[in-house]
Amino acid sequence: MTSIVILGAGPAGAAVALGLRRLGYAVTLVSEWRRFAALEGVSLRVLEALRGAGLHHALSEAALPSQRQVNWNGQQHAQNVEFLLDRPTFDRGLREDLRLAGVELVEGRVLSVQSAASGHRIDIDGRQALAADFLVEARGRQAPALGKGLRGPETVSLLNRWQGAPGNTASAVESLEDGWAWMARRADGQCYWQWTVDVSSAGLPGKAQLLDYCRQRRQDSAVARAFFGDEPEADLRLHARSSTAILSPQVCGDNWIRVGDAAMAVDPLSGNGIFQSLSSALQAPAVINTLLCKPERAALARRFHQQRVEQLFLRFARIGRDFYADEARWPDQPFWQVRRRWPDAEIAHAEADFNALRIERAPVLRDGFVDEAEVVITADQPLGIWHVQGVELAPLVRRLMCRESAEQVLAGLTVEQGRMVRSWLLAQGFKP
Ligand SMILES: Cc1cc2nc3c(=O)[nH]c(=O)nc-3n(C[C@H](O)[C@H](O)[C@H](O)COP(=O)(O)OP(=O)(O)OC[C@H]3O[C@@H](n4cnc5c(N)ncnc54)[C@H](O)[C@@H]3O)c2cc1C
Repeated sequence: MTSIVILGAGPAGAAVALGLRRLGYAVTLVSEWRRFAALEGVSLRVLEALRGAGLHHALSEAALPSQRQVNWNGQQHAQNVEFLLDRPTFDRGLREDLRLAGVELVEGRVLSVQSAASGHRIDIDGRQALAADFLVEARGRQAPALGKGLRGPETVSLLNRWQGAPGNTASAVESLEDGWAWMARRADGQCYWQWTVDVSSAGLPGKAQLLDYCRQRRQDSAVARAFFGDEPEADLRLHARSSTAILSPQVCGDNWIRVGDAAMAVDPLSGNGIFQSLSSALQAPAVINTLLCKPERAALARRFHQQRVEQLFLRFARIGRDFYADEARWPDQPFWQVRRRWPDAEIAHAEADFNALRIERAPVLRDGFVDEAEVVITADQPLGIWHVQGVELAPLVRRLMCRESAEQVLAGLTVEQGRMVRSWLLAQGFKP
């Protein structure tokens, strides 16, 4: 049996562990608990993705629906509902999901990892070292860097948490002259105010004054005053964490893989961190399966993981850039100036153009392995689309490009398949 060890029991490590168990692998997971209690906002899509990954216990008690208010560029709107994930409860649920799936859990802090082509040695605080043939690095932002990757503007988020009076569950986001703040209140009165600023230009005071400084900044904001009221703050705490967007230079080797924030960590503005960490984690079991059972496809499997992680990272970075650019009140403030330009000037969503579609061979996932197939490359999906509703698109697109009629090309599909493929074609700019 190949021994597989996963480091880190966040959503990414847990999703890989469950996926590997489904493929029949024995898995050991080593993790310590997070050191602070955060609350994080996620969309309904993220809850569905977590459910799809089999993380049912993690979700059962952790998610509270909340009406989110957005104050951006001087405008205020009540946007959609977001769900507030209480991370300590969520992380406990993840451990329960892992236990029920038969994953061997080792509670402990990983001190160091020594890796070679023949395997890995993992040193754990106060325990015997572990040996692994294959290593999954899922320690989030705490995973050691592998060298110089792509980094966004250096950013830090200062979280203030305190006990206020019970009230309605609510959350809000507000742009500020030198950053932005996310705030939330749980029904039990736990309050969170998270202020995200630029490391080089924020002019923050030393550690001893930071808590008072944050409180003052919070009280300067009319939005925060209205949101929290002026009730007393019991047990006020501060926790600082880096929130710089980081893409690791390498995310897969022949006997290791990086997933979640260890592979790419996004700007928390997107509210997509958990979604992104799941995206890279959900594809990892098939990549690992291929590396272990079909070594002749190792290069293809590594390429699949690397390209997908990079593409996802850049897509979200560009969406974030456009959101920063929507705030036009402080164009000369360093925080806004650098973020409205990073990572580049490429558009986030390209216009559909049927005549620009290309057909190429590319790595895809088939039956639990990475395989190669013809895919359709679109401006918005540079890695290609293989099929819709089980219908391979490349042969159909090729025939349409040779001027065969849509009726002929789509004949033979079921009604549902025809409907889905037709709507995909129209979205690509196809004119019947
Ligand atoms: C300020 C901030 C705000 C955010 N807000 C949101 C939000 O509102 N919505 C959202 O979707 N995402 C948000 N995120 C992102 C989200 O937290 C991450 O994307 C997500 O948790 C990544 O999952 P992961 O499994 O990769 O890593 P993590 O969830 O970080 O899990 C890593 C695990 O590894 C463990 N670990 C770390 N080091 C060691 C070690 N040496 N030994 C043993 N175990 C170790 C940790 O204890 C942890 O259990 C935010 C991030 C930041 C920085």
